Amino acid sequence: LEEDLPKMASMKNESADLGLLHRDEKGELRDSFSNRRVIIFSCSAYRAMCDSLYDQFQSGAGVILYRMGEGYGRKLVKGMPELGLSKEDMVDALSKLSYVAGWGKLTIKVSEDGSSDAVLEESAFTLRREGIGETTCYFMSGVLAGGASEIFGTVYKTQEMKCASRGESKVCRFTVRTKKSE
Ligand SMILES: [Zn+2]
Repeated sequence: LEEDLPKMASMKNESADLGLLHRDEKGELRDSFSNRRVIIFSCSAYRAMCDSLYDQFQSGAGVILYRMGEGYGRKLVKGMPELGLSKEDMVDALSKLSYVAGWGKLTIKVSEDGSSDAVLEESAFTLRREGIGETTCYFMSGVLAGGASEIFGTVYKTQEMKCASRGESKVCRFTVRTKKSE
């Protein structure tokens, strides 16, 4: 047993993550903090899904993925407990959700004017496909835009500036701006 202790200690975080999910009496998978029904999304199947979109819609696939993310981000923020959460707390919660959901380690810096810069380490959304441009994390861009729009109450747009799908950057970098600040 003692030999196993260091191994178990290092597994602590993983098992904490596994405790985030449970099944209800109907066998539906739910997250343990909001008790909402969730699904597990395979990254490789996500990429295959994106491939199908790009096969049919070419650059339009990026717009579709962005819009999906936008709706997703808005709803995530709407689902946060309303009482006692400052805007800062909500931004923080979005970062934590990103990590919990396995999207990657998200750091968001918000400026006084409400615009922000975000860094995503180990993005789950990078795509390797010829001819789709320098940045590929459209779903995540949409989540950041939708989340910011919901938190700050005005329409935000996200631009991915650097993407880890291209060799020179290890992280993905995003700017989140209001439409009028462009
Ligand atoms: Zn990226």
